Amino acid sequence: MIVVMEAGASPEVIEAVEARIRAAGLGVHVSRGVERTLVGAIGDERVLEPENFESMPGVERAMHIVKPYKLVSREWHPGRTVVDVGGAAIGGDVVQVIAGPCSVETDEQMAAAADAVARGGARMMRGGAFKPRTSPYEFQGKGIEGLRMLKRAAARHRLPVVTELMDVRTLDAFLAEGVDVIQIGTRNMQNFDLLRAVGRVDVPVVLKRGMSATISEWLMAAEYVAAGGNHRIVMCERGIRTHETAYRNVLDVTAIPFVKRESHLPVIVDPSHAGGKAWMVGALACAAVAAGADGLLIEVHPCPREAWCDADQALAPDEFASLMVRLAAVAGATGRFLAPAPDDRSLAPA
Ligand code: PEP
Ligand code: MN
Repeated sequence: MIVVMEAGASPEVIEAVEARIRAAGLGVHVSRGVERTLVGAIGDERVLEPENFESMPGVERAMHIVKPYKLVSREWHPGRTVVDVGGAAIGGDVVQVIAGPCSVETDEQMAAAADAVARGGARMMRGGAFKPRTSPYEFQGKGIEGLRMLKRAAARHRLPVVTELMDVRTLDAFLAEGVDVIQIGTRNMQNFDLLRAVGRVDVPVVLKRGMSATISEWLMAAEYVAAGGNHRIVMCERGIRTHETAYRNVLDVTAIPFVKRESHLPVIVDPSHAGGKAWMVGALACAAVAAGADGLLIEVHPCPREAWCDADQALAPDEFASLMVRLAAVAGATGRFLAPAPDDRSLAPA
């Protein structure tokens, strides 16, 4: 950490800063310029907080020079993490597509959705049973029964499932129902109790970026999960809030190479919640893969106009299937390939 002293700071206040750094067990390096003095802390500066110094007399500002996140950083783990989900990899040379409806509605809808997902060539299925809705009067999800419907539908094609956990109190049910990947949604990215709880289980976590979160806050949220012992984390960019109101969110494509450079964790992209319109999903999905995304989370509904949630942004089965063909080409152009669908006899022609 570097502590920048105010112009004209007295030797006593500079010594007080030095003493505080030494008391934390770190070494001190003082650099006296013509106008200002800088005090540097030498050692593991993570034990120091800039705010504790900024409140001291004579201090103008204090800042960390190493990253606040550790376990999720590239400095800590220089290689790339590949998260295994029941034999399907997220990270590495594959581009993994997770598809399915915004919310679990009925057994019939889920069966048709699972068929569309598998036929399109995706290797994992999504579907929300606990829905974080802006209005309390809107459909809130099917709950535990929804988890069962999701599992039943996905099992027909042996697809692992990804679904959102909103409340620590439901975690045991997620484990009991065999949820393969726990999604932490944008609205819960800084629900630290929830992050701590999923950090203690041995189930992969898809961590969506908070809609107004900085990259550093997002990585610190991942650090919470990793600090509990669960290192099977997949970062998911899903669009952020900006001044722009023409579309639902702005897909931060810049975040993909940036987070992959900062962290060893795989990064996937949700183009559906970014654009908020089905017609934008293809362009955003292709951009994400071209920028190096390790996978995509795409909303697909057997009949989008009848969807109970996010009808505008869901792809119909045929739209999804043709997008997968384009995505395979983009993946190939970036030296990767779309994850092959499981050997699924139910897809063979009758
Ligand atoms: C979702 O994936 O269904 C969802 C609610 O996403 P987000 O948390 O990104 O809004
Ligand atoms: Mn949705």
